[in-house]
Amino acid sequence: MIEIDGSMGEGGGQIVRTALSLSLTTQRSIRLTNIRTNRSRPGLRPQHVAAVQAAATIGEAAVSEVQEGTRTLTFEPSTVVPGTYRFDVGTAGSAILVLQTALLPLLTAPRSSRVTVTGGTHNRFAPPFDFFAATFLPIVERMGPTLRATLDRPGFYPKGGGRCTVDVQPVGELEPLTLTERGASRPFRIRAIVANLPRHIAEREIATLQEALSVEIGETRIDTPSSLSAGNALLLEVPFQHVTEVISGIGEKGLPAEQVAMGVAEAAESYLDAEVPVGPHLADQLLLPLALGGGQFRTTALTTHTQTNAAVIERFLGNCFSVVDATDGWSISASPHS
Ligand code: ATP
Repeated sequence: MIEIDGSMGEGGGQIVRTALSLSLTTQRSIRLTNIRTNRSRPGLRPQHVAAVQAAATIGEAAVSEVQEGTRTLTFEPSTVVPGTYRFDVGTAGSAILVLQTALLPLLTAPRSSRVTVTGGTHNRFAPPFDFFAATFLPIVERMGPTLRATLDRPGFYPKGGGRCTVDVQPVGELEPLTLTERGASRPFRIRAIVANLPRHIAEREIATLQEALSVEIGETRIDTPSSLSAGNALLLEVPFQHVTEVISGIGEKGLPAEQVAMGVAEAAESYLDAEVPVGPHLADQLLLPLALGGGQFRTTALTTHTQTNAAVIERFLGNCFSVVDATDGWSISASPHS
């Protein structure tokens, strides 16, 4: 049984999700302690409980009792069963993070899978659906599987109720990834989502972002979908030949549209200035497939999320990463896991 201290490093929910994904992939049992102990609301939140339940279903795992607030859990998988699954976070907690947890073991399962999760699809501090679909999945696809994500409807805080699906055509083994250059730049796209909110919010966000970026914008679009809660997301798609970065801002009550747009503009500027293909969020998320398939990517200085995720992965796979801090960014590489 692998013991993992949930308060290590960043001490967040990612430790739980990564441990669950790797427990399934390696079929090793885990015991997690001190889960999110240093957070203002410690222990599992609904999104993490849903991730445990999803992983337990897919892995026919024996799990200790889990509920909101649980700080210690044991998880003993017995298999990985590909198939059609539906999970529900039950709140606006991130459905995307639950999808990511379930995805990894299904990438190399013997048959195809379809996983649908209901919850939040555009949350602060989590990948929005658009990042998952346009940034994360296409890179994982380059390692062999065929992946398709669909958004049935967006879910925002506080009611959630968004629904998204990922279809997985697996491969026997993940192939190594090389992502060291961005390649040629293509015109940026801006999309603003406003659900049950005035359209002028989206118009102001787009105008502010366009002005701040002062680069060629290929397309701007406003979407007004129906959703259980009022919600707003501003999504900047920055496509290069080898990677598409999606930089996002999530609107909230009391936060002017212009500030949402300036936050996106600043994040875009720092990504563009860094001249690396892999932004800070994609870096921590790519570590898992990289550790299994091997390969190399170039990114910005490592965040605590990335460092912590690497440490959790190495609890399962040994010292698999090698990190080089060069003048043109940080390079992370791994040999394929056998
Ligand atoms: P906690 O509440 O304990 O911090 P959590 O379960 O909500 O935990 P984290 O452990 O913080 O989540 O992990 C959040 C994940 O979401 C990380 O992989 C991070 O890179 C990703 N993420 C956060 N913001 C964005 C964003 N704007 N775009 C893409 N990914 C994001």
